[in-house]
Amino acid sequence: MQQKKTKNRNRGNRKKMVSSIDPKTLVKKANFKKEKKYISSITFKDLNLHHKLEKNIIYKGYKKPTEIQEKSIPSLISKKDLIGIAATGTGKTGSFLIPIIHQMLENKNISALVVVPTRELALQVQDEYHSLTKGLKFISSCFIGGTNINKDIIKAKRKNQFIVATPGRLNDLVKRKALKLSNTSILVLDEFDRMLDMGFINDVRKISNATAKRSQTILFSATVDKSQESLIREFVKSPIRINVTSGTKSSDNVHQDIIKVEQGENKFDVLLDLLNDKAFKKVILFAETKRTADKISRQLRNSGMLSDTIHGGKSQNYRSKVIDLFKTGKTKILVATDVAARGIDINNVTHVINYQLPMTMDSYIHRIGRTGRAGKVGTAYTFIN
Ligand code: AMP
Repeated sequence: MQQKKTKNRNRGNRKKMVSSIDPKTLVKKANFKKEKKYISSITFKDLNLHHKLEKNIIYKGYKKPTEIQEKSIPSLISKKDLIGIAATGTGKTGSFLIPIIHQMLENKNISALVVVPTRELALQVQDEYHSLTKGLKFISSCFIGGTNINKDIIKAKRKNQFIVATPGRLNDLVKRKALKLSNTSILVLDEFDRMLDMGFINDVRKISNATAKRSQTILFSATVDKSQESLIREFVKSPIRINVTSGTKSSDNVHQDIIKVEQGENKFDVLLDLLNDKAFKKVILFAETKRTADKISRQLRNSGMLSDTIHGGKSQNYRSKVIDLFKTGKTKILVATDVAARGIDINNVTHVINYQLPMTMDSYIHRIGRTGRAGKVGTAYTFIN
């Protein structure tokens, strides 16, 4: 076990937390060799997709389907229900968007609704949808909280063929009678485990009821434990099940270590020491509360660090701007709360730092999965008081 030792300093900045995690389990070397890259033996041509869609896929630079895409696209095109157990980074978005767009091209009356837990994920799905439907003139909308609802009301009244939304805003629009979901043909519940974590189950039930006439349901989740099975059956009737997570856990690509703040040491100074290391090029720092996130980010900026904050209290515009600045390297440190960082897919994050021990292992795994992506090795440090 290798622990970062630091200089003694005054003022402690500690808060009593009750976490279910044993810190000893957070020290691991990345096991990079373990990940085997899946190379599909087929190309997108072999999937017999509509030629306009195939053209956009090729234009996007996708040559071969990823594992989840190869395994799910044929069943989804033939309108089967599906449970896909796949994490972000596997190409899962394409695996439901490609068959949806194919069906929309084959039949003008098909409409799809994709429900995701977070605003950032909704915007990512929308981006991927836009690039896959370039020049196809479909009517689509993205409905997420933190944006002007009046604009959404106008968009909701159109004959949308494709909607991606977070549950709260979607149900709000339905409640205001701006949006009717009864003609939805395909319902996608993406990152279902996150939706449960975030307390969206009743919202999802409402959406499922409002789309009861749908002909296809697709559910994606990074994990499915036994307790979720019966819930899932409420939404997806006789699904095909595809699991591509085995052996490709993103945490295999992450060096994990703990940082012990000794009595008398100043935790923030310990953090600064770390961040001054040149290897810390693109860092997501997790804080437990919005207040702590704001405070740390302020302190970092006062110390001359390029830092920004995202959390649920910031407007969507602000969050999108901050993520762009971080993506393009204009800021180095993104201070985030759990919820705000869910679903974020940013390349080349070198480090994840947990400024406090996360409350659950699930939250820990999700956080450290923001680094060590796309074939890279990342590092995660967790502060232990
Ligand atoms: P996802 O798991 O959907 O978040 O996708 C992870 C990343 O893989 C995104 O940046 C996608 O653009 C990319 N991607 C998805 N499908 C393919 C593919 N068939 N070939 C290459 N890259 C892909």
